[in-house]
Amino acid sequence: MIKKFIRKILGVKAPRNTDEPEVLGPEQHGIDPKMVSSNAVRVTSTLQEAGFEAFVVGGAVRDLLLGVKPKDFDIATNATPEQVKRLFRRAFIIGRRFQIVHVMFGQDLLEVTTFRGTTTDNAPKDEHGRVLRDNTFGSQAEDAERRDFTINAMYYNPATQQVLDYHGGMRDIRAKTLRIIGQPEARYREDPVRMLRVVRFAAKLKFDIEPTTAAPISVMAPLINNVPAARVFDEMLKLLMSGSALACLQQLRKAGLHHGLLPLLDVVLEQPLGFKFVTLALEATDKRIAAGKTVSPGFLFASLLWHQVLEKWNAYQAAGEFPIPALHLAADEVLESQTEKLALQRKIGSDMRDIWAMQPRFERRNGKNPYKLLEHLRFRAGFDFLLLRCASGEIDPELGNWWSAFYEADETVRAEMVSAVSGTGTGTGSKRKRPPRRGTRHGEEAEASTEQGDEGADYEGEEVHADAESSPAPRKRRRGPRRKRNGEGGAAAPADVPTVD
Ligand code: ATP
Ligand code: MG
Repeated sequence: MIKKFIRKILGVKAPRNTDEPEVLGPEQHGIDPKMVSSNAVRVTSTLQEAGFEAFVVGGAVRDLLLGVKPKDFDIATNATPEQVKRLFRRAFIIGRRFQIVHVMFGQDLLEVTTFRGTTTDNAPKDEHGRVLRDNTFGSQAEDAERRDFTINAMYYNPATQQVLDYHGGMRDIRAKTLRIIGQPEARYREDPVRMLRVVRFAAKLKFDIEPTTAAPISVMAPLINNVPAARVFDEMLKLLMSGSALACLQQLRKAGLHHGLLPLLDVVLEQPLGFKFVTLALEATDKRIAAGKTVSPGFLFASLLWHQVLEKWNAYQAAGEFPIPALHLAADEVLESQTEKLALQRKIGSDMRDIWAMQPRFERRNGKNPYKLLEHLRFRAGFDFLLLRCASGEIDPELGNWWSAFYEADETVRAEMVSAVSGTGTGTGSKRKRPPRRGTRHGEEAEASTEQGDEGADYEGEEVHADAESSPAPRKRRRGPRRKRNGEGGAAAPADVPTVD
């Protein structure tokens, strides 16, 4: 009573009682029930009919309140994972850190989570305070307190069409504010990924980060380095595929979070050409997502890291390596350093390599070369990448224009185009003339070409150019570095270069 009186005099609002939710009816929240997926309703009603509580929760409620169609629906319940599993035909318990249930309807996957408890005091943590494992169930109020931001801690019951709001999420949605629940430093320490999440939501939703939520980020940013690489990768991918990748990256820079996430990304962004390239790539990605098209993670990461590859590619060539092996060495080096930090999946890594490896092949426009390249499984990705290189000013736009025309043209026009460039000598990717082949080639190279198809052919092509330049010196130059690399694990030896086609 006295407290209430003093607050009234001072004009201070009472802290919210976060044990009891504010209950909002349809006229207050304005959610359109038609936007709620029928499978989400199936899950909540099945659980409710079995006597449990069940709600749509988290990002889906946030998006529904913003009038955006949620891309997935998460369900929260007081049923245990075992109890959930028994109610659905295709349900799987997954997760070690915290068990959740995946309920499948055809291709649609819904995540059902049991309300989580708040007591992380006894949960195992790493030396920086990051919670490693915790499997305690709790009440709905506790579950709300465990969530990251106020706008992500609301529960929607499709049966009653009510929203339960424990932390003033509705107020923050209206004010376009991102506010962390609880004490910001403690929450970032428990899980540093929340710093990446706040940046993503701010950029994607065009919300402001409330000052006390934002304040610790620049100081606490290095804690991201202790997070397992696979989680950082998942979060980075979400960020890049959010439809606001460019805004996210700018926000990451502003928050000082880009250091250490993609090593050297800060350096890349500071080089005018690298910056332009990344900007164009992310703009194109955002446009594709807005148009409902798919985006390949391999293309995205290949773009983000291209200028690092380029720098190393140039350095290897300056040191006497031939262009194709130099490119593979550069790719190996960049991929190795990124794998450590980002846990790039094998498939993504091989897509990136393919896109990079295709680039010099675009310069070979003579003979069968352009036709072979067109048949490449990932030609489209490599071609889009080439166009980005042209648009960023890295290479002559003439090459991109030629390929665009070649791609569209019919067989007769294609043949004319090839003979035109072959005639001028611009189609070989080198100003040097290709010498006629004489006698049997070195056994080593012959082996390389049979093992690698087109890629081997590229490799040979370089060899021929080099011989033409000043025989026999280049051969000596080539043997040195190659033998050395084999000794170090053979990173770029022909047998280790992945087959492109
Ligand atoms: P998106 O639209 O990207 O899916 P989201 O908010 O749904 O956004 P999810 O990763 O799907 O993000 O998480 C679902 C919900 O789980 C969040 O809304 C939030 O309530 C909670 N959550 C997710 N990650 C964390 C975290 N690191 N700390 C606390 N709560 C989290
Ligand atoms: Mg989600």
